[in-house]
Amino acid sequence: MQFIDLKSQYEDSRDLINSRIQAVLDHGQYIMGPEVAELEQRLADYTGARHCITVSSGTEALIIALMALGVGPGDEVITTPFSFIATAEAVLLVGAKPVFVDIERASCNIDPQLIEQKITAATRAIIPVSLYGQTADMDAINLVASRHGLAVIEDGAQSFGATYRGRQSGGLSTIGCTSFFPSKPLGCYGDGGALFTSDDALATAMREIRVHGQSRRYVHTRLGVGGRMDTLQCAIVLAKLERFDWEIRQRRRAAAAYDALLHPHLPVIACQPDRTSVYAQYTVLVEQRDQLRSELDAAGIPTAVHYPLPIHQQPAYAHLAAGERYPVSEDMAARVLSLPMGPYLSASDARHVASSLLRATNLTQPGRVETVELSV
Ligand SMILES: *Cc1c(COP(=O)(O)O)cnc(C)c1O
Repeated sequence: MQFIDLKSQYEDSRDLINSRIQAVLDHGQYIMGPEVAELEQRLADYTGARHCITVSSGTEALIIALMALGVGPGDEVITTPFSFIATAEAVLLVGAKPVFVDIERASCNIDPQLIEQKITAATRAIIPVSLYGQTADMDAINLVASRHGLAVIEDGAQSFGATYRGRQSGGLSTIGCTSFFPSKPLGCYGDGGALFTSDDALATAMREIRVHGQSRRYVHTRLGVGGRMDTLQCAIVLAKLERFDWEIRQRRRAAAAYDALLHPHLPVIACQPDRTSVYAQYTVLVEQRDQLRSELDAAGIPTAVHYPLPIHQQPAYAHLAAGERYPVSEDMAARVLSLPMGPYLSASDARHVASSLLRATNLTQPGRVETVELSV
């Protein structure tokens, strides 16, 4: 069993992907070829945002978003310490300071109730992360932001295709960012990402920043980066979009199977009733995680931990928090365990994972879980 099965996905879409790649090789416009604009139009339509700008990665999307908003030295950006490092890294790279706010237990996303107390005269933006494929409580976050005149950048690197109160991730705030890293729910075969906004001026700024701050050829009106997504990667995402909605349904079926088998026995990061998740990860909470993982490994089940150390405890970032604690993030970091997930995870795979996990839980934490027999 694989943690994420990209090979079956390719086998299923081989002809579509190969012919899209061949078309690029035939026309030869490797940078800013026609597939770039085609993908941007498709993704803008998908999210409901007026503009989509493809970029070279999810990390670059965050950096370009911050640059377009003019966030820089002396500014503060509120974000979660329980994320992949890129979220806070982007803030530091533009010269601003990440200010951390702890997460909610239910979704592992930033707790909107705790944001206001961290807002100062220097705060410019809030970056909620849509962790594991589920958005944060975006209406509550947007409300706090609008009260204080702040921008909201959704780090939707794990959540393209998710919805919040019927609206698509990416189109929920001032700017949405996503990633097409191969293992994300909508992945390419290299690095890629996208920005979403319905603000025309921000869209223009982000398009220019993506290409060295260029407004016309060799006229550079602002500081920019080399941040384009190449045509081949856009072509691959276009091919994968054909089956994307089916894949999301398959992911939800796999997650529903896990929910039914595991939730009665173990705490899981559940999808909130006003949202749908794309299950970039299916994550449970366990004790004695290392021992549990080696039991599962012995049963042929790969697992992962997203993420074992919160950002405020990372060696290069600890000085930012000045010893401040984020108890929910720290507790989650010690207990989260992500299980194999993806559109090609079969019902029998899900049962095998669930029964092995519950058996291992009984071994490592006797008495914690009642003995369960699952029909595999
Ligand atoms: C993957 C990820 C990123 C970075 O995306 P890349 O395309 O790998 O640069 C940023 N934030 C989160 C939450 C991610 O999961």
